[in-house]
Amino acid sequence: MGELTRDAGVAVACLKSARRVLITSHSAPDGDAIGSELGVLWLAERLGIAAHVVNRDPHPASLAFLPELDRIAVAAELPSGYELDYDLGVVLECPGLDRPGLAGLDRLPLLNIDHHLANERYGAVDFVDEEAPAVGEMVLAMAEAAGVPLPPATAMALYTALVTDTGDFCYSNATPRAFAAAARLVAAGAAPHVIAEGLHEHVPARVVRLTGAALGTLELLSEGRLAMVSCDSAMLEATGARPEDTENLINIPRSIDGVQVAVLLKDFSPTGVRVSLRSRGTVDVQSVARTFGGGGHRNAAGCTIAGGMAEARRVLLAALLPALEAS
Ligand code: 5GP
Ligand code: MN
Repeated sequence: MGELTRDAGVAVACLKSARRVLITSHSAPDGDAIGSELGVLWLAERLGIAAHVVNRDPHPASLAFLPELDRIAVAAELPSGYELDYDLGVVLECPGLDRPGLAGLDRLPLLNIDHHLANERYGAVDFVDEEAPAVGEMVLAMAEAAGVPLPPATAMALYTALVTDTGDFCYSNATPRAFAAAARLVAAGAAPHVIAEGLHEHVPARVVRLTGAALGTLELLSEGRLAMVSCDSAMLEATGARPEDTENLINIPRSIDGVQVAVLLKDFSPTGVRVSLRSRGTVDVQSVARTFGGGGHRNAAGCTIAGGMAEARRVLLAALLPALEAS
């Protein structure tokens, strides 16, 4: 185990000790993953460190408005020779090293920057703060600790991280600390109305079509307290949609009156069914996801279950229905 810290200055010192850094985040990256990566990329370069970003999966269409997305490479493997070419890996928003989906990261010394429960502390330095509203907020704290003023494009990326991870400042992590960071980012040039328009008003038609197809599978169980929706490769083919187009889908079953737990099952690959869980109220979906080798937060978690859709549905309901009965 490395050095555990909540001090952004310690993370900056770790970054500064490197000459070439490789930055990554989790597979199926979201706004916090992409925004934080762009933030660390800028900070590293601002400090005179060469930096590259590699992700396993492409960004969702909702983030296409962000500047400098072309600096993020998408690849199934780390670049050849990475062990020699880089002297530090920066891993963002990942409670475990399985999350990036890129083999071999553990061969680099790592700076682990995360806010999830149960982070596995795989870094040489583990900058982990479970109370941070978003990893983007932790990256802002690093820029401040380094004493370098943010350019507007970076403020925009970090504000996007913050606004997406707090659900437009609607979730329980929309704390005074989240609003304080938002104020600093807006002062540095992030324009909330431009970002909100970028995130919400340019939805590709294929995403709406996929949403329609998936909502056709809606099941309400446990007297309306559990909502389950699924989608599969056939739906992607029929609508022209891509796996990352499911990003906001689970918010619809979660919004149904009386629903305490929402489940989205995605059967897109032979390796297993990807599961997203959301809760309102007392059910801790993170602990349910952990029993399947996943994780996340109390109210938002995920995991992968081997086997097909029917099997995933069966084992998940076996875990969730008793948790709902007990709540
Ligand atoms: P989502 O459902 O949006 O993919 O993920 C919700 C939350 O659960 C996020 O905080 C995400 O990082 C976490 N999460 C999703 N899938 C996994 C997983 O397989 N393992 C772990 N540890 N966390 C996950
Ligand atoms: Mn996050």
